[in-house]
Amino acid sequence: MQTINRLEMLRAGVSALKAKGSVALVPTMGALHSGHLALVREAKLRADHVIASIFVNPRQFGVGEDLDAYPRQLAQDQALLAQEGVAILWAPDVAAMYPEGFATNISVSGVSEGLCGAARPGHFDGVATVVCKLFNQVQPDIALFGEKDWQQLAVIRRMARDLDLTRPHVGAIIGVPTVREADGLALSSRNAYLSPEERQQAVALPRAMQAAVAAIRDGADVAASLAALREAVIEGGFSSVDYAELRDADSLTLLDSLGNRPARLLVAARIGKTRLIDNLPVLPLG
Ligand code: AMP
Repeated sequence: MQTINRLEMLRAGVSALKAKGSVALVPTMGALHSGHLALVREAKLRADHVIASIFVNPRQFGVGEDLDAYPRQLAQDQALLAQEGVAILWAPDVAAMYPEGFATNISVSGVSEGLCGAARPGHFDGVATVVCKLFNQVQPDIALFGEKDWQQLAVIRRMARDLDLTRPHVGAIIGVPTVREADGLALSSRNAYLSPEERQQAVALPRAMQAAVAAIRDGADVAASLAALREAVIEGGFSSVDYAELRDADSLTLLDSLGNRPARLLVAARIGKTRLIDNLPVLPLG
């Protein structure tokens, strides 16, 4: 595996790979875990060569968020990606990604509003801008993202559709199901912030979500099910719930009842200093 941090080198490396077959891109912020590696494995099944990127993108962190504390472990990540057969690791620094004078912002409205967009103003502008740059830098045949960040996936698909992107085309943006710990907690680089006690308590989140999904599927009132979820999460040791909502899985329209289209339960909650997000599918009724 080649680790590259200059754009001219990346372009040369990508051209060489493209002469030999198709290319998949897996963007990450590093501190890799099995969730990231599931994206790489799926990429390997779908393309001849995999390019992973690691870039802790300052533009998607708000004031007072964890940009400086965000875990960075390049050597360990390199070893993991090399083991998975990744061809190129694209690891630019901030100056390479945003050279002096950089002045462009991509802002996707609609799907970026509410949910994480409400608590993290500017976050999805930062995501859309960096992902658009990564797409243009690598011009992959396909790109893979985790369903763990469901709203992020919706924002990226909306951007690709609206900007008529072709590399990758919106249809070649692939969502990969969330990888979880044995007890149900979704893997996240931010789980590293949890104390051992918080880690034990954090299981309250997926448990309460599973219960709410079962209740909603059983015909229980959506508002009551979400209220019960909030209560269970707080009782389990979380300090607050940023949001707990049922939304249309594709348009992200807020739902107050389950209809005949796929829905998604999306939750963000805080435990200690850590904010965790998760989401689950809610299949349409009969
Ligand atoms: P991050 O490094 O947190 O920006 O994540 C990089 C990519 O990995 C994103 O597409 C995430 O959605 C995805 N990802 C993060 N956690 C998981 C997980 N537990 N399962 C599957 N994909 C994940």
